[in-house]
Amino acid sequence: MNLESVALRSFRNYQEAQLTFNPGVNLIVGDNAQGKTNLLEAIAYLGSGKSFRAQKTAELIRFGAEFGEVEGTVFAQQRKQTLRFVLFPGSRARQIWRNGAKQKTAADIAGVLPTVLFCPEDLLMLKAGAAQRRRFGDSALCQLRPNYDAALTQYNRILEQKSRILKDHFTDSRVLDILPEYNLRLCQVGALLISYRARFYEALGAAAAEFHGQFSGGKEEFSLEYRTVSTVKDPFAPVSQLTEDLQEHLQQHSRAELESGQCLTGPHKDDFTVALSGIDLKAYGSQGQTRTSAISLKLAQRELMRREWGEEPVLLLDDVLSELDPGRQDFVLNKIVSGQVFITCCEPGRFTKLGKTMHINQGNVMI
Ligand code: ATP
Ligand code: MG
Repeated sequence: MNLESVALRSFRNYQEAQLTFNPGVNLIVGDNAQGKTNLLEAIAYLGSGKSFRAQKTAELIRFGAEFGEVEGTVFAQQRKQTLRFVLFPGSRARQIWRNGAKQKTAADIAGVLPTVLFCPEDLLMLKAGAAQRRRFGDSALCQLRPNYDAALTQYNRILEQKSRILKDHFTDSRVLDILPEYNLRLCQVGALLISYRARFYEALGAAAAEFHGQFSGGKEEFSLEYRTVSTVKDPFAPVSQLTEDLQEHLQQHSRAELESGQCLTGPHKDDFTVALSGIDLKAYGSQGQTRTSAISLKLAQRELMRREWGEEPVLLLDDVLSELDPGRQDFVLNKIVSGQVFITCCEPGRFTKLGKTMHINQGNVMI
């Protein structure tokens, strides 16, 4: 797929901007705080309806503006398509348009413009806390499987309601009457999450192992293991079995949850580990191994998306190339040649010959 152009209106620090892109490499150059990441955010949002950094829609709208807009023309699924989001700062729902027709949810545009974002924090994800790895896995899986996205949203909502019950029961014990019902729903939806994740991580690990093999010249063997709650013996088991496993787990922790007033463990604490030739990366990996493995995971994410839709997703590299040594830069660039890529950097340096260069200055675009 190929993002041909984007128009921004009151999006972040852009007042009004029109950009046309190269089907290969697009280099976005500018000083700090000029709007480079904002442009990548707009592209990712156009494809998924999600921001990788805003908590609220209002943050995406230019300060003081009544609404914001992102529009793009994409060549995907053998035809030209348009996507458009209109965003409002208050409680008014955003509008999603595809080819001039209004859509109900972002799931209705899945597959038109899938994107993979790669930023410097991702390079360290294998040394970071579990939350960062979960964020990576969840965001990849949400794009691949809109039903997973819906289940995750539901799970988080139930978890929030259960947290409130656990907090309130100290002052009003009647709220505990509804706790078993919430626990059951949490286990049912949680089982679904585990089932999706087991399959996703298996495929991701296999694809990443291939990239890592090429990277290390076959010297290191990359392996990934999905980690979920201890009572789950086989994450590939039927969802009914996983539901039972989770119920057993909750039972074991119910007293501790009531005493602490908090939801303790569950699929919301899931993680994955990476080992190189059997040696745990988080504990023992060198800086280079950590980075190389993270790059392999990101390229694997792109590969799974390519298999899903039969087209190469757009790759967004935010400040990441400058963090890599020339050998790794070349590896990444050689592995992405078949698709469209957006690269932000302050200093274009050795990349200028790659494709089209755009200069961004205070939300204005200069070619
Ligand atoms: P760096 O090289 O430091 O990463 P960048 O070019 O990627 O810089 P961005 O993160 O794209 O910078 O843009 C940051 C600028 O956008 C900040 O100056 C910020 O104040 C401004 N900005 C963010 N949101 C809004 C908004 N809703 N309205 C107006 N300006 C905004
Ligand atoms: Mg930036």
